[in-house]
Amino acid sequence: MATVTGLAEDELESLVVLTGTATFKKEKPRNLVLRRELASYIRKFEVPRHSDAEVYAAVQAIEDARHERSAETDRAHRLSLTKAAANPLCPVCGSQMTVRVAKKGVNAGQQFLGCTNFPRCRGTRQLA
Ligand SMILES: [Zn+2]
Repeated sequence: MATVTGLAEDELESLVVLTGTATFKKEKPRNLVLRRELASYIRKFEVPRHSDAEVYAAVQAIEDARHERSAETDRAHRLSLTKAAANPLCPVCGSQMTVRVAKKGVNAGQQFLGCTNFPRCRGTRQLA
């Protein structure tokens, strides 16, 4: 998305909005909100970082880069979701996760997924 919009990676907030009545079997990822939560999620960002013109240009760039909807793009999207489920991203920063072994604490010796940005990010997930 940074390539498409020309914005820096840290200027973008990746977010998936679910419509309908979704419930989660596990902890809800940080970058996923229900539609009814969207307004309060947006209000968390109090300081505008871009002018209206910059936002419009970024939205236009995304629209211009959008793939035509087709059976082929639907299939590619489903495949990418399957791959994403097999390789979950960090719930804190969205980076890749890697298998680590807890060195101390009550889980010492047990494997877990840790963020590849450790020690800058301390995001973890349980191994499925
Ligand atoms: Zn992380």
